[in-house]
Order: sequence, then C-alpha cells, then structure tokens
Amino acid sequence: MPKIVHPVKDPKRLKRGLITKFLVDTVYLAQQGTPCYPIGGQGFHTGWDLNGAGGGDSDLGMPVGCISDGVVSEIVRNNGPLWGNIVIVWHPHLDRWSRYAHLKDIQCAVGQELQAGEQLGTIGKGYNGTAFAAHLHLDIIKKKLPTPTYWNGSGSLQILKSNVQTYFENPKVFFARYGLIDFESVSSGCRL
Ligand SMILES: [Zn+2]
Repeated sequence: MPKIVHPVKDPKRLKRGLITKFLVDTVYLAQQGTPCYPIGGQGFHTGWDLNGAGGGDSDLGMPVGCISDGVVSEIVRNNGPLWGNIVIVWHPHLDRWSRYAHLKDIQCAVGQELQAGEQLGTIGKGYNGTAFAAHLHLDIIKKKLPTPTYWNGSGSLQILKSNVQTYFENPKVFFARYGLIDFESVSSGCRL
C-alpha cells in the first residue's frame, strides 16, 4: 500500500509551526493536474484526493487534522452539487492556505486557531453525503481564491490548467519542501 501524507490527527506531530508529519497507509486517488475532473467533464484536479487504505468508504468519518498551525479562514457547508463541507485554513508562516473538502463533519469555526494535527473535521462523501466515495480532497493554495468553492474557472483546457497553476501549488512540491513524502511509493491515477 502506498504511503503518503494524509492529514489525519497524529499525536506524533512536530513542534508548533512546522508541517505535521502524517504518514499513514493511504490510497492515492488523484493528483494535481489529473485531467479527468469533474467526473465525466473537462478540468484538472487542483490538489490531492486521499482515500483510506481500505478503499471505498472505509475512511468515512476518519478524523482530518490541520496540516500545520493556522487559523480557519473560510467554512462552507453542504455546497452542491459536489463539494459538500469545506474548511480553508490560512498558514501565515507558510504563505499558504490549505483546503479540506467533502467533509462529513466540520469541527472548527472561522477565526479559530488550529495547531498542526488538530482535528478540524471528518472524511466524508461530499454534497448531501452522497456525491463521492468517501475521501479527503486536499488543496494547497498559493493565491487567495476568488471564492472558497473555486475550481478551475471556465474556458479552454489551456486556460483551465493555467488557472489551476495560478491558484494552487502541487501538494507534492509543497510537502516535499518539508521532506514529508516518500515519493517512490506514491502512485497516481484517477479512480473515482
Ligand atoms: Zn478532489
């Protein structure tokens, strides 16, 4: 089973201010740039989709922890037709936001300060709890999004890809900066 960073709560979190090290067995569903989103349509995946090692809905309700210290900047509840519950956290020491989507439960509030690894919600299935198989959608955001639910925008495939690159950092690049991923064992694909 591939080992990748999976932001679930981990008591072995690193000291305050650093990215939390969350290495668990996790199935990797899609990476940034995967050209198969939204399902059946055109667009590019903006971040990562992470699914529990058991596959399918085996991770439904698992805790989702903050990737690093930060403050909750946005919460969106049950956004249709796909997103469901969203939490966005600002990490000033990293100059980045992290976005957690399709959550089953939201366990934080706007303005709340979170420490690395602190639970902010649970893994869910998106809008109305039925949009997807359970997984965590995680984005690393480098430029403030036009809206908390921003996806690719509209236009040609070239424009869509450019939009993704404008607003989002590839999580692989982001986490590699902190030495937290064993890339040799990460597989790619789009199986949702
Ligand atoms: Zn996703």
